[in-house]
Amino acid sequence: MKYTRPRGTHDITPLEIARWQRVEHTFQRAFERYGYRGIRTPIFESTDLFVRAVGAQSDIVTKEMYTFTDRGGRSLTLRPENTASVIRAYLENGMHRWGGIQRLCYEGPMFRYDRPQAGRYRQFHQVGAEAIGSASPALDVEIIQLVVEALRELGFTSVDVRVNSVGTEASRVRYRQVLLDAIESRRADLTEDALARYRHNPLRIFDAKEYSAAFKEQLPRISDYLVDDDRVHFDGVQNMLASVAVPFTHDVQLVRGLDYYTRTVFEVYGGERSAQSALCGGGRYDTLVAECGGPDTPAIGMSAGLERIVEALPATSRTPEEVGPHYYVVCAGADAEARALQAARILREFGSVELDVSGRSVKTQLEAAGKKKARVAVVVDAAGPEVAYHDLAARTDAKVGFAALREFALQSKK
Ligand code: AMP
Repeated sequence: MKYTRPRGTHDITPLEIARWQRVEHTFQRAFERYGYRGIRTPIFESTDLFVRAVGAQSDIVTKEMYTFTDRGGRSLTLRPENTASVIRAYLENGMHRWGGIQRLCYEGPMFRYDRPQAGRYRQFHQVGAEAIGSASPALDVEIIQLVVEALRELGFTSVDVRVNSVGTEASRVRYRQVLLDAIESRRADLTEDALARYRHNPLRIFDAKEYSAAFKEQLPRISDYLVDDDRVHFDGVQNMLASVAVPFTHDVQLVRGLDYYTRTVFEVYGGERSAQSALCGGGRYDTLVAECGGPDTPAIGMSAGLERIVEALPATSRTPEEVGPHYYVVCAGADAEARALQAARILREFGSVELDVSGRSVKTQLEAAGKKKARVAVVVDAAGPEVAYHDLAARTDAKVGFAALREFALQSKK
């Protein structure tokens, strides 16, 4: 073979597409039920947008971006996530003047130069939602509830929600110093690089894979340092999650790797099959809109990785029923192709049609119709006034005049 796909990417073949679409449609329906409306943004944006929004020191910006200079000398980056782009679009399209809360949802590919492994790709796909314009903890609960509902509908029976609060700046000022002191006391164990990163944002240490959970357990916890407003907000989230019967755990080490989060952060796991990696993550980002040049506007968002969900789908919803075409149109020779196109056009009014122009024998084409699980095979020849109409499901055969084909198909479908 001459070409292979780039490392960290994957193809979705027709054998898998039904599963993908099932996941996409399930989320789309959930978005609709909750009043979220679609938004699509470009796959590349100015590099600056991600550096500012995601954080200059974040792993995404320092190690994972696909950045290039275009022919006009601009620095552009393939989007590593979609929140920054959605906020850019929200402001650029004046949506902050539309009033009320904007509930937006999206799906599409994201790009991160990550180390490829199970559930980790360089091009992956996310569905996500952003709710912009309210600081109420009810909105945090709504978005978590939406994800849990969609995952349950997909057959995940033990959805596991982990929440934490990373507070606002007021909480973090106090906490950062305490945490940094604890980290500095261990500086002998750290590289200069890591130390620089933690000095910028000490919360990052909780994401660092080189430290054990036991080590992290001993570090001070943000939840012990939340200022009153942040505490009230987080209590509100937990109480309301309980009131809508969404089971959750408070994960004191959950901080998430993007700089823009404030207050609530959460991750959703799908039970045993996805125990290792989160299917979905999200959080509140109450300062991002203002940082991007807009008015002070609180917001929360979530995104779910389609690869991870598809790979972790429970067995009960893994094998979609294979559905063949309704009609399979067999051409008796190349001369019959023009008439076959006409027949196919008529039959498409009543169902899906697969047209066989492979040039194979009628017998082979009929066998193919059976293999494809078509319900009806229609054999068309070049000159004959009739077509042979084989109802493969009912095992009946008929000769039907070409002019009467529409009426016959209509009657047969009733
Ligand atoms: P994040 O934007 O990092 O919060 O990720 C949100 C979700 O996207 C995760 O929970 C994963 O399901 C998915 N995700 C993130 N990075 C990758 C990746 N490299 N490959 C596949 N899925 C990913």
